Amino acid sequence: MTITQTHLVTRSTRLLIIGSGPAGYTAAVYGARAALEPVLIQGLQPGGQLMITTDVENWPGDTHVLGPDLMARMEAQARALGVDLVADMVSCVDLSQRPFRVELDGGQLFLADSLVVATGANARWLGLPDEERLRGKGVSACATCDGFFFRGKEVVVVGGGNSAVEEALFLTNFAAHVTLVHRREALRADKTNQARLFANARVSVVWNAVVERLEATADDMALAAVHLRDLVSGERRRLPAEGLFVAIGHDPATALFRGQLEMDAEGYILTRPDSTATSVPGVFAAGDVRDRHFRQAVTSAGMGCMAALEAERFLAGHVSDAPLGVAA
Ligand SMILES: Cc1cc2nc3c(=O)[nH]c(=O)nc-3n(C[C@H](O)[C@H](O)[C@H](O)COP(=O)(O)OP(=O)(O)OC[C@H]3O[C@@H](n4cnc5c(N)ncnc54)[C@H](O)[C@@H]3O)c2cc1C
Repeated sequence: MTITQTHLVTRSTRLLIIGSGPAGYTAAVYGARAALEPVLIQGLQPGGQLMITTDVENWPGDTHVLGPDLMARMEAQARALGVDLVADMVSCVDLSQRPFRVELDGGQLFLADSLVVATGANARWLGLPDEERLRGKGVSACATCDGFFFRGKEVVVVGGGNSAVEEALFLTNFAAHVTLVHRREALRADKTNQARLFANARVSVVWNAVVERLEATADDMALAAVHLRDLVSGERRRLPAEGLFVAIGHDPATALFRGQLEMDAEGYILTRPDSTATSVPGVFAAGDVRDRHFRQAVTSAGMGCMAALEAERFLAGHVSDAPLGVAA
C-alpha cells in the first residue's frame, strides 16, 4: 500500500476505529470512556450490516428492535460521549511504523497511535434479480438471526459447505421442512456434519441444482417459491418455500490490510487467543472481520469492547510491544 504524499489535512489521534457496525461503535464507547478521544471512520455503510435488516430479536435488552433503529442509537451514544465520527472511508493504511498512517478517500491523513479494525464482512449472495428486494421478506443469509421467524414453514438452504449444513440443521428447530440445494453431487461439509444432516428426517437434499429465480407472493410482501434448474438434466421445477437461506460464504472486508496483518486463507484477520490483538502491536481487530464462526451483533460488540480495552492497555504501556504469534 502506498500512502500518497499530499493531504488536505493531517490529524493525530490516540485511537482510530475503522468501521461503524456494532464492533466499531462499542469500541468507540469504551475508548471514549477511557478518555482516549477516539476518532471513528464510518465507511460506506454507516451502521454496518444491521442497516439492511428489519427485525432484530436477539439483542440483549430489546425484545424487538429494528436494525437501523438499533444502529442509530449506537451512533447517538458514541456522539453523546464525544466520539469524533468521520463520514468517509479508509482508502489506504500503512502499519509498518507507529504512528500508523491511515488515509481517507476524501484526502485526510490520520496518524494513529493505536487502531481498531472493525470493517466487518459481507455475505455472498446468489445475484438473482429479486434477491435484494426480498431480503427480510423471506430471503436471508443468517439462520441464527432469522430462523425463528420460519416456525412451521418450508425453507430452502443453498450451499454445500459446513455453514450451509449447520444452517440447515439449525433451521430444523423451527421449519416444517428444510431443503438443501447444492450445485454439486457431494457436500464439502465435514463427514460428521454430513452424517447429522442425512440422519435428520426434516431435511432433504437436491443435488446438482441451482436456484434460478425467486417468486414472491401476489402482494409482493414475501417469498412464495424458488425455481430450480437441474444442472444435469436441465429440467426446471418450482419448489414452494417461504424462506431462502443463502449459505455460500462471507467475504471479510480486509483488502486494505492484505500483506500487513496476518490473515487466514479466506482473509479473516488472525488474532491472539482470547484477545483482539493482531500480528501488529497496537492494531486490534473486532467483529465479523475476524470471526468466521458467530457473526452476531452481540459478539461483535463484545469484541469491540475487548479491542478498546486492549488498546487502552497498549497505549498505557502495560503490554509488550513485541509481536506475538496469532491464531485463528
Ligand atoms: C440481513 C442481516 C441480518 C442480520 N440480523 C442479525 C440479527 O438479527 N442479530 C444479530 O446479532 N446479527 C445479525 N446480523 C449479523 C450482524 O449484522 C453482524 O454480525 C454485525 O453487524 C457485525 O458487526 P461488525 O461491527 O463486525 O461489522 P459490520 O456491521 O459489517 O460493519 C462494518 C463497518 O465497517 C465499515 N467499513 C468497511 N470498510 C471500510 C473502510 N474501508 N473504511 C471505513 N469503514 C469501512 C462499514 O461501513 C461498516 O460500517 C445480520 C446480518 C445481516 C446481513
